[in-house]
Amino acid sequence: MKANGAEGAISAGRHYEYADMLLLRFGEFTLKGKNRARFEKTVLRHVKELLKPYSRAVISKEYGRLYVELNGEPAGELIGALKGVFGIESVSPVKVARSEFDDILAVSRAFLEVVAPPKGTTFKVNVRRVWKGFPYESLAMSKRVATPLLQGYPGLIVDVKAPQMEMKIEIREGSTYIFCEQIPGVGGFPLGTNGKAMLLLSGGIDSPVAAWSSMRRGLEVECIHFYSFPYTSEQARQKVVDLARVLSRYAGAIKLHLVPFTEVQTSFAGIGQDKMMITLMRRAMLRIATQLAEREGALALVTGDSLGQVASQTLGSMNVIGRATDLPLLRPLVMMDKSDIIGIAQQIGTYDLSILPYEDCCTLFVPKSPTTNPNLHIVEKIEATLPGYAQRLETAVACTETITITPHGNEKPGELAGAAPGIKEEWF
Ligand code: ATP
Ligand code: MG
Repeated sequence: MKANGAEGAISAGRHYEYADMLLLRFGEFTLKGKNRARFEKTVLRHVKELLKPYSRAVISKEYGRLYVELNGEPAGELIGALKGVFGIESVSPVKVARSEFDDILAVSRAFLEVVAPPKGTTFKVNVRRVWKGFPYESLAMSKRVATPLLQGYPGLIVDVKAPQMEMKIEIREGSTYIFCEQIPGVGGFPLGTNGKAMLLLSGGIDSPVAAWSSMRRGLEVECIHFYSFPYTSEQARQKVVDLARVLSRYAGAIKLHLVPFTEVQTSFAGIGQDKMMITLMRRAMLRIATQLAEREGALALVTGDSLGQVASQTLGSMNVIGRATDLPLLRPLVMMDKSDIIGIAQQIGTYDLSILPYEDCCTLFVPKSPTTNPNLHIVEKIEATLPGYAQRLETAVACTETITITPHGNEKPGELAGAAPGIKEEWF
């Protein structure tokens, strides 16, 4: 779980109301020299967007970090939202003092009182004097603060190597920041800084997780869903809209392309190739998705495939299916276990929707024993002999409906609006 970064991003649940300010640190992308400014700007934009409802919060930027002055806005709620911003490595709730010895000591005392470490807690004060105009250098100041604090809190035990509580004091020219917690953020790359991809979104558990993982890797994601009226219901379609809405909470807004797939799908029925059905359908999906990607300027396709999960996700199937597109086919979940995927789905708030029992277009036409090792030649031959096949694919593209979904609604007011159930409100 940790490796996927969702863990730290979700747990909060503590009271951080003592904080005057939040300190946000940027993640791994800071290593990327030239792009750094662009990446930091993207995070800033994302944070600003998120903090719009909190009008008293004031954001400022510094090298490698952002500050959010709270001015009375609820720290816990903001932390819950901000740690989900892609590109943020950690968040610290901070108490602010004036950069004068007396005030630093007084605020440190008050800070210790709110945190109230239990008796026996190992403890260290770690001062960093960034502003060289401050009269005491870092080590001397650490001692000057630690000594009276320890006198007031005899239950604390000094441990300078691996303390349970490390009180960090950063002395800067205008203000001094006091904090002891570094709450892990979701990390990854800022939204959209690694280009755009089209994600095939089914109503299942996997593809929404693939979407979130892609966004976390800095991809702008547009979703494509294939539906088969009248074989699939309005509820099945609505479920996908609701899933996209949950995803939009991480992106601000998300485009969903709804592709009518019935004509294409039924063209595979009754040709005596039932075992190949899924292979043919998946390849058709990729072909349509490729055309939409070209139209929308996306450079890759993404699916929720996970190796060996079902017949269409064996290596043999992936090989034959994947050849239906020239675009890079990204499969962020390919090596992950289902239980890990489910864990992320729960944390990002898509799981409860994904398990609703509405049918997917593919499951309707699925044979009892689909092939796990299709033959590319045979598949290509079948496709070449299907009457009007290319035309059907083009028609599906032409008849695709696109909606832009936001956390609170979409571009077609009245239709499909309303928040999805099961959303973890603390995220956005
Ligand atoms: P998921 O939970 O994502 O549905 P799954 O294990 O059910 O995954 P499949 O149904 O075999 O897997 O689908 C594999 C992938 O193909 C999905 O993750 C998704 O990217 C894509 N896909 C399947 N059905 C659709 C659909 N109706 N519309 C769009 N994409 C689809
Ligand atoms: Mg599925």
